[in-house]
Amino acid sequence: MNRLQEMEVYLQQLKTQHLYRKMYEIEGPQVPITKIQGKKMLIMSSNSYLDLCHNEEIEQYAMAIGGKYGTGSGGSRLTTGNTSLHRQLEQALAKFKKTEDCLLFNTGYMANVGVIPAVCHEEYTIFSDALNHASIIDGCRLAKAKTIIYKHNDMEDLEEKIIKSRCKQGIIISDAVFSMDGDIVNLPELIKIARKYNLLTMIDEAHSTGVIGASGRGICEYYGLYNEIDILMGTLSKSIGSEGGFVCGSKVLIEYLKNKARSFIFSTALSPFTVACSIKALEILEQDVSRIKALQHNIQYFCERLSLYGIVITSKTSIIPIIIGDEEKTLKVSQQLFEEGIYISAIRYPTVAKNEARLRVTLMSTHTYEQLDYVAKRISELIL
Ligand code: PMP
Repeated sequence: MNRLQEMEVYLQQLKTQHLYRKMYEIEGPQVPITKIQGKKMLIMSSNSYLDLCHNEEIEQYAMAIGGKYGTGSGGSRLTTGNTSLHRQLEQALAKFKKTEDCLLFNTGYMANVGVIPAVCHEEYTIFSDALNHASIIDGCRLAKAKTIIYKHNDMEDLEEKIIKSRCKQGIIISDAVFSMDGDIVNLPELIKIARKYNLLTMIDEAHSTGVIGASGRGICEYYGLYNEIDILMGTLSKSIGSEGGFVCGSKVLIEYLKNKARSFIFSTALSPFTVACSIKALEILEQDVSRIKALQHNIQYFCERLSLYGIVITSKTSIIPIIIGDEEKTLKVSQQLFEEGIYISAIRYPTVAKNEARLRVTLMSTHTYEQLDYVAKRISELIL
């Protein structure tokens, strides 16, 4: 068998195991009701938590910027791709996260695979949560450091592993909000342990920015713990409704990353148009917390409705995992919902462990009570 024939066998096996992945084509903007494959659908799986992917104010601003700066950036930040807009966004993000400085990356994935190897040399030990996002896992794989995985959000296990490792230098890395479970890191305890053993901390704010904290500033605001995390990483592709990754931290860290992070150095900068979308979205977020309040309200309402229909889930974030377990059943429920006009992704191995397949509902600030109630009811009817 040649390699291409092996690939065919592999794909066939995935189909038999109900693990084959395919893409739907969306023919409209990322809003609660949009057109998918010719049909009007209710999206309950989008990461556009604050519904900022399709916003007139942002679009008009970005189009004007596009007219002035053009579409592509034409180079990496360290060559010809660095515009004043890139710097403006970095300064706005540093202010939003209350850190000294910030550095943009092209995606959140690229931030993690760039920062972790840049920071963690051979002498380092990385302590990484078992449920950290794939981009953190890949960043750890690229780093020359040793990686030790601790049990999910289990601070006792983390401390035991630190003691056992006898490491001299190291870092603790965790998602702020875990992407497939929607739970929140025990940050106060994590910071206490990091200080006790003289370790750095890195937190991934992909799903906490714009979602938790009274004004959506994320994990630091949620716990009232500003200036305690050494490396605060995030993405502009979820609540901010645009694209790009970022790292907030001290000036020294940012200067170091500019000179060391390969995914920053060797890739063309984000387009001015995309950067403009993030600048305006962040401005909107800072001026008006009503979207954040509406999202937080929807989260509470949806969990209450699910409980009423017999599915007990308490999430404080936009991610509401409805764990079914069996891959085939999960896929069938997701397909049935799709036929009825509701798009909720079936998340299966290897994104989650085998037999932990789930419907991953994600909420937007603009979902209506009627939509949330209907979906909670239909899910319960299909799985209970
Ligand atoms: N970290 C986490 C926790 C994520 O969920 C994601 C995206 N799914 C990323 C990083 C990567 O961000 P991006 O999509 O901007 O590459």
